[in-house]
Order: sequence, then structure tokens, then C-alpha cells
Amino acid sequence: MSLTARFSCLSDYDPDALSVEQARAFIRSQLTPVRTQERVALRSALGRVLASDVIAPFNVPVHDNSAMDGYALRHADLAGSGETRLRVIGTALAGKVFAGSVGTAECVRIMTGALPPAGCDTVVIQEVVKLDGDQVIVPAGQRAGQNIRLAGEDLAAGKPALAAGRLIRPAELGLMASLGCAEVSVYRRLRVAFFSTGDELCSIGTPLADGEIYDSNRYTIFGMLTRLGCEVLDLGVVGDDPATLEAAFRDAAAAADVVITSGGVSVGEADFVKPLMAQLGEVLFWKIAMKPGRPMAFGRLGSRGGGGDGGDEHAAWLFGLPGNPVAVMAAFYQFVRDALQALMGADPLPGVPLLPAVSSVAMKKAPGRTEFQRGVLGHADGKWSVRPAGAQGSGVLRSMSEANCFIVLEHERGSVAVGDAVHVQLFDGLV
Ligand code: AMP
Ligand code: MG
Repeated sequence: MSLTARFSCLSDYDPDALSVEQARAFIRSQLTPVRTQERVALRSALGRVLASDVIAPFNVPVHDNSAMDGYALRHADLAGSGETRLRVIGTALAGKVFAGSVGTAECVRIMTGALPPAGCDTVVIQEVVKLDGDQVIVPAGQRAGQNIRLAGEDLAAGKPALAAGRLIRPAELGLMASLGCAEVSVYRRLRVAFFSTGDELCSIGTPLADGEIYDSNRYTIFGMLTRLGCEVLDLGVVGDDPATLEAAFRDAAAAADVVITSGGVSVGEADFVKPLMAQLGEVLFWKIAMKPGRPMAFGRLGSRGGGGDGGDEHAAWLFGLPGNPVAVMAAFYQFVRDALQALMGADPLPGVPLLPAVSSVAMKKAPGRTEFQRGVLGHADGKWSVRPAGAQGSGVLRSMSEANCFIVLEHERGSVAVGDAVHVQLFDGLV
């Protein structure tokens, strides 16, 4: 079934008034991830997606070991009530095994990570014992097995430590290192080509002529794609001329998995882009009930009817974003980011969390569209409060730069009063 037909099947989806959730869900339902794998050195796997399960080749931890600095002893030697005196006969250090054997009423000084000597089943922390020459006095109340991490308690040999589809972050790098993985299988990087459209655009490095502006979208798009770990292909500025545009779309679709353009999808401009798209593939033109970022095109270039990686004919997904610089970023974060992660083979993520905050100012808003205001979230008087980051025009990158979050004003919501609860999406994550 063609993309158009699949979209038309959704009876409550109006291309001229699509909600953010509908657009996101439709895009997500169409994508098939890349499946080509490659082996890379562990460090190079950061930000990539695991292509096969990582199985623990041994127990983690490998051996029983002490969780604390203290004394390793045989629990059976301790008096049921009252103190017990034990003789310290040696020391077990991390990486230095105490080879002797521990007899009745004896113990060994032990450091975190060290193997408990044979026979010792319990570690008593150093803070609770009293020292008396070569003896320690252990108070009552010690539990058998305490302060010993058991072999395999984190992960048993043969069990999957990480499943394919996992986005690799610093914790995964460390976990794989702990299993001795020097190389891992990841999906290949997603190739994303992008260009800007508009006769008014000038690339940096060239003086502006009358009526021209610098192309900023290629820089925000470059940044957003690079952060996601995509291989980027910058195809420059393309004028509003059908022949040049057609060539650019063909080149981009041939070279990449995904093509991202900015500009040319607003009413008027879309009128001449639409027939062009009909020749090159299958592209839906939407007006999304959101601000900023209303017009957007989504589709497939180079192959009719869609399909996934490995089809007969190469086809690229197209995201035709609006031209306004902030609209580009809002549309990217709300639609393209998720889509790219799905295409990379990453497990479906729960989406960017919507966190509660209190609005410190009133905001005008009409129900019937989702608004993404640029906001500044701050902590004061024991609560997180948010205010708009200045002028909210869809071309104002300065307020985007000053913001640290989107204030997400939901579709059905009306105006916001001072002190109202709102939701925010943070720009920066911890990892
Ligand atoms: P358009 O969607 O092509 O009608 O563009 C909407 C607005 O965004 C116009 O003011 C354009 O000049 C501006 N614009 C489009 N593309 C870019 C770009 N790459 N960099 C900066 N501004 C742009
Ligand atoms: Mg334009």
C-alpha cells in the first residue's frame, strides 16, 4: 500500500489539522530500521545502537569479594551474644589474594574488592571493631554473609547483559568493558543529507547581498544530527528553482537514508514543490496543529510505496521542515529525532519526558494546537518555575539560545495564569 493510501486510511487524520501526536504516531508507524551491522572498537560504540545481545562470558562479579574495608571471618566463630575476640593473621587486598587458611578464632584484615580467604563467609566493617594488639574485638549482631558481594550476583555467566537495540551510553561502555568486550556489533550509522531552500539564503563566508540573509538552518540541523550520532552530508543552499531543487532532491535521496530540508513547505512555496515531489516519490504535505512549525512534509523519495532497508530500490525518507529557524528546531525535536532513533535501530524510547513546573508568568494560548514556547527553567523558593525566554517569534533564534527547555502547552489547553502548572521538556539530558 502506498504511503498516501496508508495515511488516508486514518479517517480521523486531517492533513490540514494534524495534531502533534498524530503526526508523530504516523511517522513512527512507517519506519523500518537499518539492519546493516558493523564491528567497532568499544569506545567507538558510544552513541551507537547495539546490533546483537551482549552475553556475559563469566559471572559478574567474577569472584565473591568484600563490599567494605574490615575483617573477614567465619560467622560460626562469633559468640551468639556479646563480643568475640579474633586474631588477625594477615591481610587480603584487592588484587592480592590471602593464600593462607583461616582457622578457628582467626580473621583477616580485608579491603574492598578483595577475595575473602577460604572459609570466611562474613565481613565486619572496620568502624565497629576494637583493636587490641594483634586481635580484634567484634561486637554482637553480625549477620552471616554480610558485606560480601557474591560471584554472579550482578550478572550470571551466559545471561544477556545488554539486548540488541540498546543505545550505548557511558554506562553501557563501562558494562561491556567489565565483560572484557574490546569490540561490539552495532548498526551502521544513519546517513542524513540536508539542504536549505530559498533564494534569499547566503552561506557564511560570503558577504550578504541586498535582501539576503545567512542560512542558519544548516547549522542547527548539523548540530542536532551530529548530537544524535548521524553521518551528515551538507548539500548547501538550493535556490527556489524547480530544476535545481529536483537535482538536489535526487542527489540527496541517492546518497542518504534520510533527507532533511528546510523552507519551501509553506503555503505558496509548497505549490511548486508538490508537483516536483510527485515525480520523485511520495510525499505528504501536512499542516500540523503546533506553534512553531506548522507546515511539514513527510515522505519517501526514490521509491513508491515505501519499504525498509535492503529493498530492491534505494529510497530515502524525507522530512521537509519549515523555513523559520525555530520552527526547524521544534519540528526536529518533536518528530525527526524520534524517527531517526527508530531508524538507527534503537528500542522505542519512552519519548522526551514532560516534567512539571510552575509558570511564573501568564501566557496567552488558544486551544486547538500544541505550543512549544522557549522557556527558562529555574529553581527558586523550593520549586521549579519557568518563564518564556523572550520573544517567541518562530524566527527568533536568540530566545532559543537563551532557553533551557520547551514549555509544552498542550493541544486542548487555553491561556496560562501565573502559578499554573505546566510541562517542560529539558534541552539537556544528564547523559
Ligand atoms: P519558508 O518556509 O521558505 O517560507 O521560510 C520561512 C522563513 O524562514 C523566511 O523568513 C525565510 O527567509 C526563513 N528561512 C528559510 N530558510 C532559512 C534558513 N536556512 N536560514 C535562515 N532563515 C531561513
Ligand atoms: Mg523559502
